[in-house]
Amino acid sequence: MKKRSFILSMLLLATGLSGRLVAQDKIKVSSFSTILTEIATTVGGARVDVTAHLKPGVDPHDFEPKPSDMRAVAASDLVLLSAKHMEGYVGRLQEATGTRGKFVHVGDSLPSLKLTVQHGDHTHDGEDPHWWHSIRNIVRATKTVRDELTRISPADKAAFAANASAYISRLEALDQWVKLKVAELPRDRRKLVTNHDAFGYFAKEYGFTVMPIAGVSKNAQPGSKAVSELINAIKSAGVKAVFSEDVANPKAVQEITRETGAVFGGELLSDGLGPKAATVEAMFKYNVTTIVDALKK
Ligand SMILES: [Zn+2]
Repeated sequence: MKKRSFILSMLLLATGLSGRLVAQDKIKVSSFSTILTEIATTVGGARVDVTAHLKPGVDPHDFEPKPSDMRAVAASDLVLLSAKHMEGYVGRLQEATGTRGKFVHVGDSLPSLKLTVQHGDHTHDGEDPHWWHSIRNIVRATKTVRDELTRISPADKAAFAANASAYISRLEALDQWVKLKVAELPRDRRKLVTNHDAFGYFAKEYGFTVMPIAGVSKNAQPGSKAVSELINAIKSAGVKAVFSEDVANPKAVQEITRETGAVFGGELLSDGLGPKAATVEAMFKYNVTTIVDALKK
């Protein structure tokens, strides 16, 4: 009897305690990038409540915020943006939600590559927005997110630092894996023909030359002159395989493989995490394996 009431009072105490723990509000984070969602969730751990506005598999070039997105942003302490002109709606977001939370344009603190090809209506002002194809950029973004979370909750500084450094170690191991895999490919074979000009940062990091079929927008139709020029370039460079994206229009790729004898090497993941790769690590392993195995044949 005595024992039971002791257990009961311990239970009540624990409930009361957890009630107080819940009362210590989590940091509300709004993320507009699947990559930043992974970073914020990993670095913030149990102290953050991350709303992923960009769901896995959604094209960030076409995304438009809904009223429910606006409401979540209005309640957020931190709003993480991919930036480099990816979120054309950011002004509307800020206007509609006021200034309660801090908007962090993560990509804008990272080095920029110019886009060499511009087609269709998506030009991104000539700045390549696909910074997450460089692991070094993901490491830099992780430090930015760590510092912003620490600014909001200085008491959690040590935990955020530990989470970030564990994640960065995993990214560095991934970078080593990518370098080893790419080393299977002689330098003169590192030529990347893709439908969507999204791999500039990847190419710079790992010594590839990009030969994009269309521009930044996956839906843009390349002109016939551009395609025939590319066909000639592929023939003279002896490129073995060409690639496309998960949601790309395959027409130009089919014409190119027919005319050049290059094989279709597979679909690459260009615009973030999705059903085929739920993590940054899975995305790199999938893309790099697809590219290297097709080009080394
Ligand atoms: Zn893209």
